[in-house]
Amino acid sequence: VGLNQFSSSHSFFSAVCIPVFLPLTVLFLISVSRSPEASVLQWPPALPSSDQLWDPLAPVVLLGWMGLHILLYFLPVGKVSDGLTLRDGSRLKYPINGFHALCISSGLVMLFLGLGAPLGRLFELLPPLAVCAIGASFLFSIYLYIRSFWAPSHALALGGNTGNPLYDFFIGRELNPRIGSFDLKYFCELRPGLIGWVVINLGMLMKEVELRGSPSLAMILVNCFQLLYVADALWNEEAVLTTMDIVHDGFGFMLVFGDLAWVPFTYGLQAAFLVVHPQSLSALGAAVIIVLNGIGYYIFRKSNSQKNQFRRDPTHPSVSKLETIATATGKRLLVSGWWGLVRHPNYLGDLLMALAWSLPCGFSHLLPYFYVVYFTILLIHREARDERQCRDKYGVAWDTYCRRVPYRIFPYIY
Ligand code: NDP
Repeated sequence: VGLNQFSSSHSFFSAVCIPVFLPLTVLFLISVSRSPEASVLQWPPALPSSDQLWDPLAPVVLLGWMGLHILLYFLPVGKVSDGLTLRDGSRLKYPINGFHALCISSGLVMLFLGLGAPLGRLFELLPPLAVCAIGASFLFSIYLYIRSFWAPSHALALGGNTGNPLYDFFIGRELNPRIGSFDLKYFCELRPGLIGWVVINLGMLMKEVELRGSPSLAMILVNCFQLLYVADALWNEEAVLTTMDIVHDGFGFMLVFGDLAWVPFTYGLQAAFLVVHPQSLSALGAAVIIVLNGIGYYIFRKSNSQKNQFRRDPTHPSVSKLETIATATGKRLLVSGWWGLVRHPNYLGDLLMALAWSLPCGFSHLLPYFYVVYFTILLIHREARDERQCRDKYGVAWDTYCRRVPYRIFPYIY
């Protein structure tokens, strides 16, 4: 997911530093979120003590969770879609049953809760779980790196085969590693990590119930907003088949770690923060935040759907009346509708939602805003990269589009 930003900087330095720095960042952020000061700027930093980093239950939970999602992957429900055409002319088949996996695993979690399982224990288990997820990401990436040497050359990613072992390990050599029909990259992209993220959030909510008798309004909002985001991603799972992650990027440490450790353990920091730092939220404040999340979601969903529909079938009644400009490639660019407002309306919506996830945590700390800050940097960088690619692809037509739609993400600002 987001971490693929680093693939554009073909530097040996990042390939060596990032696998050390980012896992430490995950542990640091979890540790700060539960410290009384919750200060990211405090020196020396609030690091977890070694006894907080290990619990024999953590690998059991992690393996059980991965096993469950592997089983759900093979569930014969939902449709089977073709991926884009590969370099050897073939197309891989992918099961579109991620939303079913979300519903069934949520049902199972609810069943466990009903049977009295102490889901709030996830709060104490969070650092050991993160340690196990980080360890598993390293082991899994080593396996992926080794097995890639048996892959035919057309199955390798163009960017991940520089011959520099560290860099290739980091970026990923093989494009679509599979065991039989089980696609390892597609499996990791949206399922165990994203669904794990919302289950961790629910665990934080249950911890709050243990500590204070009932969940706070702020905690309920954070849980609902992020569940909506994850459910939306899985409902639209087919769209992942045309993303850079699936189409261009090899499967190496960067994506593995991003999917299995970074997303589940840093995207939900607000809920972890709220367990130790309760916030009172007025009904009016909550209403404003709900409206903000709603507007963000509306812009995000409508703009993504509009472009997907236009790319799939430009004659469809919902997009056929929109104004477009021709390009030399034969493809057209939308210049009205959502894509006439700014050049990346989907990023605008995503960022408004990110802000709405942090606001329930109040203004006393920086930590709950980590995701908004990180995500703003990521999307600005991603936008610049996409812009370069589009200029190369569409040349003067892209310049015309930029003149017609001068703002990139924020109308009249940027
Ligand atoms: P986008 O959906 O923004 O796609 C960009 C592509 O759209 C361009 O390369 C171009 O491709 C096409 N395009 C651009 N402008 C136009 C236009 N005017 N008319 C028609 N087509 C156009 O790609 P992303 O993968 O970056 O984002 C998808 C979603 O995922 C976003 O909502 C983003 O916010 C979200 N996201 C979330 C992350 C997270 O960690 N939560 C991380 C990254 C993204 P072409 O012309 O070839 O079709």
